[in-house]
Amino acid sequence: MSALVDTAPLIGHVVGGQVTTPEGSRTQDVFDPATGRVTGRVLLAEQADVDAAVAAAVVAAESWSQEPVAKRTAVLFALREQIVQHTDELAAIITAEHGKVLADSLGEIARGLEVIEYACGMPQLLKGEYTDQAATGVDVFSFREPLGVVAGITPFNFPAMVPLWMAPMAIATGNAFVLKPSERDPSASLFLAKMWKAAGLPDGVFSVVQGDRVAVDALLTHPDIAAVSFVGSTPIAQHVHATATAHGKRVQALGGAKNHAVVLADADLDLAATHLTGAAFGAAGERCMAISVAVVVDDVADALVERLTAAAQKVRVAPGNDPDSDMGPVITRASQLRIEQIVTDAVDSGASAPVDGRGHTVAGHEDGFFVGPTILDGVTTDMRAYVEEIFGPVLVVIRAADLDEAIALVNDNPYGNGTAIFTSSGDAARTFQRAVKVGMIGINVPIPVPVGWHSFGGWKNSLFGESHIYGPESVRFYTRGKVVTSRWPSSPATAKFHFGRTTS
Ligand code: NAD
Repeated sequence: MSALVDTAPLIGHVVGGQVTTPEGSRTQDVFDPATGRVTGRVLLAEQADVDAAVAAAVVAAESWSQEPVAKRTAVLFALREQIVQHTDELAAIITAEHGKVLADSLGEIARGLEVIEYACGMPQLLKGEYTDQAATGVDVFSFREPLGVVAGITPFNFPAMVPLWMAPMAIATGNAFVLKPSERDPSASLFLAKMWKAAGLPDGVFSVVQGDRVAVDALLTHPDIAAVSFVGSTPIAQHVHATATAHGKRVQALGGAKNHAVVLADADLDLAATHLTGAAFGAAGERCMAISVAVVVDDVADALVERLTAAAQKVRVAPGNDPDSDMGPVITRASQLRIEQIVTDAVDSGASAPVDGRGHTVAGHEDGFFVGPTILDGVTTDMRAYVEEIFGPVLVVIRAADLDEAIALVNDNPYGNGTAIFTSSGDAARTFQRAVKVGMIGINVPIPVPVGWHSFGGWKNSLFGESHIYGPESVRFYTRGKVVTSRWPSSPATAKFHFGRTTS
């Protein structure tokens, strides 16, 4: 280990409202992907660290759950103000560890704010139902209560937005929330903890345990964790779902994706090419809603590939904090090498690469984890480039004879997160939206991430569990219902007021 690595700042946990860096912890290096240099060392929690965070959360949840909902949402309003005030600082932290351009970091914060704003309406969202006189003298009403302590386990690609998909909803509904962020870009979680504290959230209601699978498995099996929200890759989502449900927890586990955009012959090809370029290469393709496959009907395939090629060649690859950068590096050296290998395998198997981002270097940043935009044409469904989620700036082009064949391709894919269609035909768009087995659909919109007041979630291998995340479904996910059937015997003095039994 170099001297620089030894002195890189430690990135700790937040337990009971305090940042903790327990002695003797395992650590993992955190990199600036634009330079390839180590910038920090994140602590990796053991079972005891998770136990400490959960114990503090259990105590905090008891009093927090008793607070009137309007008092809880007062903290949410204040959190929104804190994050708005400190947006640039948070965006810089995201870019420094993730690598995405500042505009993308600002974009993910904006999407997170949407969820906070929705959670500010919790008094309305938690309002129960009431049936007067369900039987003579009997009323029935229902309301929902928080679960207790819930956990969120999040991926590297949105270190602020994905925690904000979960925590504001969990906390506004009256739970305490324990976050296990990605160990690859952990600093945004500490910044969010600071924002919650500044907003007046009592200590222990929002906690952070840094770590790897040890921390995750400790949360999944912990008797005091009532529910788990997970976002990440499909194999880990399956593991999280199986383990946590086996331990009696409520689970929503969002997995990976392979999102297809279908381009029909009647589409505006310029518009489609511009949108697909942004959707495939934005954030270096490290979005679960990135378009990674363009399914183009034969008649316009060459014309579209020509436009995509021209647009991809104009994408400026540079560090995320360079204001002129369109696309930053990918997250790790291992990811860079894996993406390049997948491109090599495709080319070796007969695909062509009209734009080839392998070996891309950025002057002054030769050790950065850069991959240039890449288009692979002539890909077949048995190639690794089609079968695997690449999670890099690679757009695979597949040709289809017609809409039916395109829909079949979308539906045969094991993932079902997002999909899009580009067309000028309402009939074709409507046929597509009804036929595809996918959770989120864009019509002339490449990345159809639902706004904060509609829930987000895919189908098939993109989601394990019943509940989509944020929006109305998450109000239900983070609460459980009670129904009260009540009868109060009437006295002779009040009997005359009871409808049906009025005597005068
Ligand atoms: P990942 O699955 O490697 O990691 C996600 C979380 O799981 C992290 O907190 C990580 O520490 C933990 N983890 C990793 N390996 C583990 C193991 N063996 N046991 C227990 N926990 C483990 O995912 P990632 O690389 O950080 O993120 C990219 C993936 O997330 C992509 O597949 C992407 O599609 C997916 N994603 C999906 C959505 C969605 O909404 N469906 C959103 C964002 C990202």
